[in-house]
Order: sequence, then structure tokens, then C-alpha cells
Amino acid sequence: MVGKTVLITGASRGIGAACARRFAAAGCQIALNYHRSQEAALALTQELRAAGVRTEAFQADVGDPVQVQTMVDNVLDKFCQLDILVCNAGVAKQQLFTDITDRDWHALFRVNVDGTFYCCRAVLPHFIHRKAGRIITLSSMWGVTGGSCEVAYSASKSAIIGLTKALAKEVGPSGITVNCVAPGVIQTEMNGNLSQEDLENLRLETPLEAIGKPEDVAESVFFLASPAAGFITGQVLSPNGGILI
Ligand code: NDP
Repeated sequence: MVGKTVLITGASRGIGAACARRFAAAGCQIALNYHRSQEAALALTQELRAAGVRTEAFQADVGDPVQVQTMVDNVLDKFCQLDILVCNAGVAKQQLFTDITDRDWHALFRVNVDGTFYCCRAVLPHFIHRKAGRIITLSSMWGVTGGSCEVAYSASKSAIIGLTKALAKEVGPSGITVNCVAPGVIQTEMNGNLSQEDLENLRLETPLEAIGKPEDVAESVFFLASPAAGFITGQVLSPNGGILI
């Protein structure tokens, strides 16, 4: 993986930041996307550079196709090539189905689904030209099973699985793999609304009796981008401690 360039969306914190550190540890060059958390993104950039990693931060809203195209153009200008795309940026909201407004629904789909679509579409001409490339999308266990009070989130995460499988079939002949990681409960700011009691109950429901860490997800993402996963495409890998089997 030494010298490979990876673009990770939503890499300012949580799972995306753990992915950036994992790829950096393997000698990759890191194009780190963030939206609002500029301070965290720049701190991570400094951290990786101090460790000798070639890293640049790119501000863009993945829900905006123009910003995504500009970001990918800038990444290619800076690094000259791109080998791996991790579509990690995502948003979640818990609410009763009957409380979901049109605005809530579209806001979730805009980032989770449209964002994944725009990023894949923007990198694919480069990947197809090179007849190589790895795409890893981020779904969720709720995208597989459906989560109560998370209907919009679950639907958006199911759409990502559909996108992953169909795109894997379409671009496989061009030497490109497309796989999905669908994590269980992972301790990040996204789950900041869960109380200690909620987390403890979830931990006890999990066969491995642990809440996942961002690093657990980063290992799955890294594996799917590695040569070891060269014959794997269109698959969904779930680092979830066994909470969903
Ligand atoms: P966090 O809330 O900790 O981080 C979300 C990241 O997404 C941030 O870096 C944020 O950037 C970025 N982001 C949000 N909106 C945009 C946007 N419009 N454009 C670009 N970036 C954006 O989430 P997690 O790390 O927990 O989640 C990462 C992924 O993993 C998501 O897709 C999530 O759905 C999925 N996941 C998470 C699980 C969990 O339990 N935590 C479980 C299953 C799946 P910024 O701060 O710069 O705005």
C-alpha cells in the first residue's frame, strides 16, 4: 500500500479520521476531506505530516456535486493519481417516522446517498482510465436490518448497499472493486446522544461484549482496499461485534 493515494470523505473525526490514520500507517498518501470541522481536519493533517505522511486537507460538502468535482480535480492536481476512494461522510438523525419532515428526509439523503453518488462519479473516469481503483462505501447495520426511529437513515444506508452492488457489477470489468462496510454501534460523536445506560445495554446485547471503536471499522475499510481483497467486490462487511449475525 506504500505510495497509494486515498481520498477519505468526512475524515475530520470519528471513523473517517481512524481510516486516515490506518492508511497513513501503511504508507499511503492521504487526501482528507472535511466539511465543517476545519480545526480538527487541520490538526489531523499536521499530525500525519509530523509522522512523515504526505497529506492534504480538502474542504467540500459531499452533497454538492460542483464542490465534489472541484475537490477530486484538486486531489488529482496535487497527487497526480488516486487509487482508493472511501465514501465515509455521513449524517444521522433519530426521530419517529411520522415526525420526519421533507427537509429532514432530503438532508439525510443529500449527504449519505447523493454524496456517495457524486464522489464515485467524480473519481470513476480516472479509475476507468487506469483500469484500477478501489471504492469503499459506508453503510450501517441499520441499512441491512432497518432501525426503529431511524427510517430515513436506514433507507439511505440501504441505498448505499444497492449502489455498491450495482456499481461493482458495472465497473468490475474495468479492474475496479466496490465494496461496502456496514458497521454496528461505534463510539463516535454520531452516537453522542446515547446515554451511558444505552451504551451499556448495547454492549451487553453484543456477543463480543464491546462497543466498537472507529479503529475497528478502519481495519475493515483498509482490508477491502488492500491487495488481500483483490478478488472481493460487491460485498458488505459488517464489523459489529456479532450484534447482527
Ligand atoms: P461522525 O458524526 O463522528 O463524523 C461524521 C463525518 O462526516 C465528519 O467528518 C463530518 O465532517 C462528515 N460530514 C458530514 N456531513 C458532510 C458533508 N456534507 N460533506 C462532507 N463531510 C461531511 O460520524 P462517524 O464517524 O460515526 O460515521 C462515519 C460513517 O460511518 C457515516 O457514514 C456513518 O453513517 C457510518 N456509521 C457510523 C456508525 C456509528 O455507530 N458511529 C455505525 C454505522 C455506520 P465535518 O465534521 O468536517 O463537518
